[in-house]
Amino acid sequence: MVDGAAAPAGARPSAETSGRCRIAAVVVSCEHASRAVPDEYRPLFAAAADGILDSHRAYDAGAAEVAAALAERVGAPLFTGEATRLLVDLNRSIGHPRLFSELTRALPAAERTRIVERHYRPYRDAVERAVADAARRGAVLHVSAHSFTPVLDGVERRADVALLFDPRRRTEASLAIGWRDALRQALPAGAVVRRNYPYRGVADGFTTQLRKRFPDGVYLGFELEVNQRHVGTAQWPAYVRALAASLARVVQGSSMRDAAAPPR
Ligand SMILES: [Zn+2]
Repeated sequence: MVDGAAAPAGARPSAETSGRCRIAAVVVSCEHASRAVPDEYRPLFAAAADGILDSHRAYDAGAAEVAAALAERVGAPLFTGEATRLLVDLNRSIGHPRLFSELTRALPAAERTRIVERHYRPYRDAVERAVADAARRGAVLHVSAHSFTPVLDGVERRADVALLFDPRRRTEASLAIGWRDALRQALPAGAVVRRNYPYRGVADGFTTQLRKRFPDGVYLGFELEVNQRHVGTAQWPAYVRALAASLARVVQGSSMRDAAAPPR
């Protein structure tokens, strides 16, 4: 639950004027969990740049660990991608120019279709089914765990943790405030938490796609982004614990605030 207000038993959640709603279920996913290359595609990757499979281009370092901790903490189903995003990007929509990478984009259409059928659809369908099942019980919080590279194209990203969501969806905007506050309390001192940074939550992605099917108040889609500079450091375990604790806290509803509260 997110706020303490009682609702009639069996009432469906709705987008209320306050932007508040009760979270009935959480679904956790991690589209960029893995840098694995399925055996049959190894020849394709033989020509790839050295080190690319260890880089942020191939996967989100640390994200799988975060996703597992989140799911465990709140007892949510967990879905993790099993192949590198360089094969097919689970966080891009069909038809998006970056669905395929430079290694797979030029493959014959039939081969690309096969990749989608085998390595994309089963994952996307499973998460969507879990969200749809949970939505029958009430509002669903879908957390898609990611990590971002500390420097991209020479620009340093000035955040440690970020929440990506659709600010036009009142329930998401409201939850984002409470979650940001919970993160600031739980994370090591000095950690910078930002909203819709370094990407916008409404850019093409899995949560953006699911918002088209599930309305505000029924589906709350968040991408939780962690700066990769913390992954594997001495304070990384504290980061992972804090992220999980902050999720538990917003689900329990101890830090919900009205969406109209001014940003800090
Ligand atoms: Zn990612």
